[in-house]
Amino acid sequence: MIAESGPIPLAHYMALCLGDAEFGYYTQREPIGAAGDFVTAPEISQMFGELIGLWCAVTWRQLGAPAPVNLVELGPGRGTLMKDALRAIEAEPEFSAALTPHLVETGSRLRETQQQALAGTGAIWHNDLTTLPPGPLLLLANEFFDALPAQQYEKCADGWCERQVTYSDDAFQAVLAEAPSALDRAGEVGDVFELAPARTSYMADVAARLNTQGGAALIIDYGHVESANGDTLQAVRAHQAQSIYAEPGLADLTSHVDFEALCEAAVGVQAHGPVTQASFLCRLGIEARAAALRRSATPEQAADIGSALQRLLNPQQMGQLFKVMAFSPL
Ligand code: SAH
Repeated sequence: MIAESGPIPLAHYMALCLGDAEFGYYTQREPIGAAGDFVTAPEISQMFGELIGLWCAVTWRQLGAPAPVNLVELGPGRGTLMKDALRAIEAEPEFSAALTPHLVETGSRLRETQQQALAGTGAIWHNDLTTLPPGPLLLLANEFFDALPAQQYEKCADGWCERQVTYSDDAFQAVLAEAPSALDRAGEVGDVFELAPARTSYMADVAARLNTQGGAALIIDYGHVESANGDTLQAVRAHQAQSIYAEPGLADLTSHVDFEALCEAAVGVQAHGPVTQASFLCRLGIEARAAALRRSATPEQAADIGSALQRLLNPQQMGQLFKVMAFSPL
């Protein structure tokens, strides 16, 4: 298709690689887990989803315990976060009784996995936010925004030119748009800047919904607190980085989330954070939860709990790069 049409913007290439109905990565692959391409926090430890469940319960109380309430997750992967969160929420029976889980997922294979994980919970699936029922919502998104397409602009002598993808000599290749874009920002020749309209418009939709229906949103992802120049687009297959052109549709393609841009898009709502994932999980009591789990664990399980804690909290691993932000109506 690209061969026939000439160069297409990189964001369009990313959207096709990830979401194409026939060949897209999230349509055809089982990406997450040791046997897949990458591992996410809920898959590392049940503690992650449990603590987020408790965050939801506390936030629901702070909102005045609205009933009914929609517990919404964007891009739920294998359904593990929601499953662990719902189990922890059972400690707050009133909240458990008031909520309906809603999963926003476009990948048909992952939907099947989620349906198995969440059988019996009354969960309802959606392609986007538009079909959610009215009412206050608690919305969760872990590693969702990084999977929405990003554009890249490269600083040239005459301005910032958008990066595009073409197919020639039997391979996908990068080319630059002939004319510079309207982007106006400081940078050295060769610098790269990323913009992600798909992310900012999703964030604007979430903010609009919070404004009209009430509630709160919790967004967790890897990325930077302030907009900055840099090429963060990466392809990963079987836990190994590879060129973004090597195996379109077979490798995961993501880029770091620009949290400053997300905040700007969240018009009319209050932003809380970002804080690092380590700080967020520690404040929610992950150490105490780990100690409680260790008390009834075999030595082998206790070692697994220790290494999971390290992966989630260590600044060299997920602790620092991953950021957490919450949004609530003003
Ligand atoms: N939150 C999960 C999975 C992260 S991977 C976890 O932490 O394990 C990204 C998820 O977002 C996948 O479930 C993918 O199918 C989904 N996804 C990607 N683009 C989407 C879109 N536009 N709308 C809804 N879901 C999407």
